[in-house]
Amino acid sequence: MQMLPKLTPDEIKRYSRHLILPEVGLEGQQRLKNAKVLLIGSGGLGSPLGLYLAAAGVGTIGMVDFDVVDFSNLQRQIMHFTPDVGKPKLKSAEEKIKGINPNVKFIPYPARFTSENAMEIAQDQDWDVIIDGTDNFPTRYLVNDVCVLLGKPNVYGSIFRFEGQATVFWAEKGPCYRCLYPEPPPPGLVPSCAEGGVLGVICGIIGCTQVNEAIKLILGRGNPLIGRLLLFNAMEMKFKELKLRKDPNCPLCGTHPTIKELIDYEQFCGLGRGEPEPAPGTDIEIDVRTFKQMLDRGEKPVIIDVREPDEYNICKIEGSKLIPLAQVPQRMNEIPKDKPVVVHCKMGARSMRAVQFLREQGYTNCKNLAGGIDAWAERIDPSVPRY
Ligand SMILES: [Zn+2]
Repeated sequence: MQMLPKLTPDEIKRYSRHLILPEVGLEGQQRLKNAKVLLIGSGGLGSPLGLYLAAAGVGTIGMVDFDVVDFSNLQRQIMHFTPDVGKPKLKSAEEKIKGINPNVKFIPYPARFTSENAMEIAQDQDWDVIIDGTDNFPTRYLVNDVCVLLGKPNVYGSIFRFEGQATVFWAEKGPCYRCLYPEPPPPGLVPSCAEGGVLGVICGIIGCTQVNEAIKLILGRGNPLIGRLLLFNAMEMKFKELKLRKDPNCPLCGTHPTIKELIDYEQFCGLGRGEPEPAPGTDIEIDVRTFKQMLDRGEKPVIIDVREPDEYNICKIEGSKLIPLAQVPQRMNEIPKDKPVVVHCKMGARSMRAVQFLREQGYTNCKNLAGGIDAWAERIDPSVPRY
């Protein structure tokens, strides 16, 4: 057995509530001190993850994030405080982690986790556990593939609106993310938390579930969430559990794997890089600048806003008409067929569905405003509040 680091008298005091648990004890606490955990993301899930792992006495915590703290993060990313707005998230994270437990060795990776740097970061230390605290499909597949290729456990969590899920993907002992979702959803079909919203406390519930699993893996105790997907619904206050099976045909962890190295995950998930551009040969989207020029020329397209009334009350584009996405089919009579129509939502995903629907109904001159009102506020009209 590996030599475990001794605890100092201060550490014995600090961890006394752990030490008197027979399932943790002195040896378990030494294991925690010896452990190295890599967190991908320091946002909604990353906040409770970082704080509780530090408090628990995990010796080395690595964190990957490129972002800075934004006002709209504070509702759920509890590691970041109001005075931190504008600060790099990793700087803020380091201060809080060191504040809770100065014994922790904090290793920041101030970068976006990508195919180019993922292997290097994942092999920079001998991480015992990698925890996925991200919120987008390309990074989820990337974290999964890195973990499978390196044989590491991936403690997974995701959140949306009033729901969350968590599991442990560990290809050597159970299924991986690709066994569960061989294909990513079509781009734009599954809204992000920025688009669909999320109740802040869900981050705490799911993030803490992930910490619990990570600690159990480090201690080698209890029954981990391997092969089990825990589903949580806050409105019903119910936990459900789905059995997950390893797919023998999984292209990554199956018996005849075809994926043997990292791929281009943006492309795999059908996402372009950088600013959204309309697909060549189609005119289904219009960017905010072209739209502004159109208005400046005095053209008067019908502007349909398919967001929810609460969002419309926060901000709107002058002259737009509110028809929430779900009401579009019943209220088509309010949308003229013989005029140019521009549909928008917050970021462009819901409105794309509306445009696809309307085109099927014969609205040939109907376009999606790429990037939604958020792009409009960012690039055209800074007086429009962003949320
Ligand atoms: Zn698999």
